[in-house]
Amino acid sequence: MSFGPGKEDFTAARIRASLPSFLIVWLGVVLFLVFLLFFLKRQLQTAEIQDVEGRLAAYLADNPVSGLLDISRQPKEAGALRGLSFIRFVKSGEQILLAEDGSTPVDFHRLAALDPKTSGVWISLRNPEKHGPWTITAQALSGGLRVQAGKEAGPYGLLYDRLVAGFRLAAVGGGLLALALALACVKRSLAPIRKVESDIAAILTDGRLLLPEEQADKELTDLYGRLNRLLRHNRRLIGEMQASLDNVAHDLRTPMTRLRAVAEYGLQADADADRLRDALSDCLEESERVLSMLGIMMSVAEAESGTMHLHREEVELAASLADIVSLYEYVAEEKKIGVRSDLEPGLWILADRTRIAQVWANLLDNAIKYGKENGEVVISSRSDGEDVVIVFADDGIGISTNEIHRIWERLYRGDRSRTQPGLGLGLNYVRAVIEAHGGTVEVESELQKGSRFRMRLPRLQPESEAIRLRSQMSGA
Ligand code: ADP
Repeated sequence: MSFGPGKEDFTAARIRASLPSFLIVWLGVVLFLVFLLFFLKRQLQTAEIQDVEGRLAAYLADNPVSGLLDISRQPKEAGALRGLSFIRFVKSGEQILLAEDGSTPVDFHRLAALDPKTSGVWISLRNPEKHGPWTITAQALSGGLRVQAGKEAGPYGLLYDRLVAGFRLAAVGGGLLALALALACVKRSLAPIRKVESDIAAILTDGRLLLPEEQADKELTDLYGRLNRLLRHNRRLIGEMQASLDNVAHDLRTPMTRLRAVAEYGLQADADADRLRDALSDCLEESERVLSMLGIMMSVAEAESGTMHLHREEVELAASLADIVSLYEYVAEEKKIGVRSDLEPGLWILADRTRIAQVWANLLDNAIKYGKENGEVVISSRSDGEDVVIVFADDGIGISTNEIHRIWERLYRGDRSRTQPGLGLGLNYVRAVIEAHGGTVEVESELQKGSRFRMRLPRLQPESEAIRLRSQMSGA
């Protein structure tokens, strides 16, 4: 089995990550080369044109001309053209071309067709727009006479061509180098991620529980520290869930065995329809009991492990308590117990409305269940600093000192309570939900005198105008 990205994925990711830096470096190299080439070209061409212009100026200084007629008297000896390949004089459509015999491959036909104003470096005589071996200068002399002189480009043209070829190679080579550099940099920068990946894979395969926190890099040590905290937290949650699951399985064994016994008893009844019906209704009752036990136990397990999902909203405490009092009106009446409310208006809490109502219901149900006939239950709520305090007080059977610490346990039922229906899960749920809301619950009790369940919950400060208005309205 393999965990995490494979080697190929990683290589592809590395290449992808390298591309931007590679392009930046490579473009930088190419731009630099292009700039250098441009600069060199300008320098070489300036040198060439200055050379041709200098030679022409020297020729004209030695051989001043004022008209085409003067030119027939120009010297014809070797070297008279000062190293120029040709000199061309043009006036009103007529022209004279001077070239040294046999020394240059001057194509007179092409020269004769050349525009007398054409000048520049590395001009092709075949196609003046294109790069060629000629450097030509042109200038106007007096009397409408124009002179044009040219020279085959010297070694600079060739040098430039070689430089272009060399730079092309350098661009390709630079590209490869930039790619290699970018890959190396990215490999280096991805190395910690690769290490994290392999250490995590090792945890999953070797069964190691935590990441090795001693690392060369401080950042990696911090990261591993945090990841280990997360792993410990998750392991604790899983442990708690496992424990809850074990408890639920254990606690359900008894009712399930009972259910099975009832079913077996029913099967033995053969054709006795009444017995069968009784068995079936017992089964139904028992299975409902199991289902509600399961629901409550799961909620408590969620609350205890910190995974209970609370739909918190602003709840007006007095209204929420009054709702439950009216719900239990008939039950209390039946037991001849009076329920008195002493509720401070305008107190708000941020709570899961349904769950908090279940808490009140459990407490009132107990107070009535374990209360005395003709007794009284008092429910009060008031603010206390940053909190609200809610008390359910009854004058019923009370709880003995050796039982009082056990009443919060799952499935615990007091000895004297067995005659009353119940699952022994109510108070367990009450405490889990109150604590999930950031509150506390405690009990004081005296046998035969009664019990007081006192809860403290964070009060919602009436900051928002809406709450203030609602408080005023409910207080009015
Ligand atoms: P149940 O009421 O189903 O037995 P609870 O978890 O609600 O389960 O309560 C646990 C035990 O605490 C009860 O069995 C009872 O002995 C005791 N108890 C709870 N509330 C009261 C009360 N108001 N007066 C006396 N005993 C109480």
